[in-house]
Amino acid sequence: MDRAVEEARKAFTDWSSLSHAERRPLLGDFKRTVVANSDHIADVICAETGKDRADAYTMDIMPSLGLMDYYARKAAKILRPTRGNLWPYPMVKRWTEYHPRGVVGAITPWNAPFFLTILPVISAIAAGNAVVAKPSELTPLSGQLAADLAAEAGLPQDLVRVVHGAGDVGQALVRAPIDLVWFTGSTNNGRAVAIAAAERLVPAILELGGNDAMVVLEDADLGIAARGAVWAATYNAGQICISVERIYVPEAVYESFLAEVDAAMKDVAAGTGDGRDIGAIIDPRQLDVLERQLADAVAKGAEIRWGGSRIADGPGDFFEPTVVTNVDHSMELMCEETFGPIIPIMSVPDEATAMQLANSGRFGLHGSVWSGDRGRAARFASRIESGTVAANDHLINPFIPNLSFGGIKDSGMGREGGAEGLRSFCYAKSITSPRFGPSTRLLLGRRWMPRRLGPRYWRAVAKALFRW
Ligand code: NAD
Repeated sequence: MDRAVEEARKAFTDWSSLSHAERRPLLGDFKRTVVANSDHIADVICAETGKDRADAYTMDIMPSLGLMDYYARKAAKILRPTRGNLWPYPMVKRWTEYHPRGVVGAITPWNAPFFLTILPVISAIAAGNAVVAKPSELTPLSGQLAADLAAEAGLPQDLVRVVHGAGDVGQALVRAPIDLVWFTGSTNNGRAVAIAAAERLVPAILELGGNDAMVVLEDADLGIAARGAVWAATYNAGQICISVERIYVPEAVYESFLAEVDAAMKDVAAGTGDGRDIGAIIDPRQLDVLERQLADAVAKGAEIRWGGSRIADGPGDFFEPTVVTNVDHSMELMCEETFGPIIPIMSVPDEATAMQLANSGRFGLHGSVWSGDRGRAARFASRIESGTVAANDHLINPFIPNLSFGGIKDSGMGREGGAEGLRSFCYAKSITSPRFGPSTRLLLGRRWMPRRLGPRYWRAVAKALFRW
């Protein structure tokens, strides 16, 4: 670990001295290398995770390329100094610069093992940093690709390093002399990372778990909402932090919505082979979590309408796409992250109850609202307590490169992606300088010692400037 961080720091010295214009062609080469190797990348991801191949492209490769392309083209613009207006000190020019922090440590999960390694890697290097990434121990080869492809693209040696191991190696990375830690994973481990980072006063960006609500208002197109629900709850076998984890539907349209969900579920199947859209459960231990949450829900009165079991015959760890009704908030299924292809649907008396339930609980990652009235959907979206929300869609947000992403409450802190996300990989430096020549310095100097301007003067200035 020490060697990896030390060598990355050496690479940082040269890399950070380049201008954005000098770095841009290399970032472009990195992106083109990923394009050229996309079939190989999909092979590695699918072999390691058992994902459906379309999921590997849409959840790992496409969003990686979107962000690589965006930062290669826009990093210079996003990170150019911002100038403030002259209020309330007209004699002083002021601007803020964005400087790379140094070596970024990135600890990444298994559910989108390529994208969630490329994301901190490209954010770090586009901002002028070096990076040491530690992929999940379940998906080391998908993470290793980030360093291999960076080397193949001709990026400086050691600018992108990958170290391997489990949680203990993650802890060692946080304790190593890095300058920023980026962690994506479960809330409990994120908390441990935040504590270790706080001891060294190293800033941490934490992208953690979620329990995302989908709210269907009674004026929604129920057919589209039902298909959206099935898609967003079972995509990547439900192993996406922003998947639909619970659905609220007003009583008035509940039965009609269920009928549409039944229609949408008909051809959805898990497993390998043609006509099967839902890939494997990547961490086999997760199967026990799914079964435990379902058993708890059924014991408290829930009904399983579709699926409900692991697929025992044949190789691999697959779980049937599952729809559960008659659920409530006494059940773990509704209150904790499930991370599997399970769709709990709850009937609520009205919109206000849907809002209150959507905002209950400890997570605040993402949510969605579905309505035929776009204005109403936008107003509802503003009131959902989470870092991101989609109206009449669900999974779209983190795949849009110029939109930042991040959770609140137990879902994490800090932003990634978009302009804000790139700035998170920098420190801001605010600089001031007298606006005019020596004459202003004389004027400004009247504030200095020995004091020429007393409290009466400052009282008058305070009133003149700020009394309204
Ligand atoms: P995890 O917390 O088990 O592991 C994530 C990474 O952290 C792995 O590389 C692991 O080795 C490492 N790690 C484990 N313990 C550590 C410790 N004490 N210190 C440092 N590193 C440690 O998470 P996972 O099971 O790999 O991923 C699934 C979780 O990730 C889910 O909760 C999911 O919601 C979350 N996730 C969040 C986002 C987001 O953007 N908010 C995205 C994807 C996944």
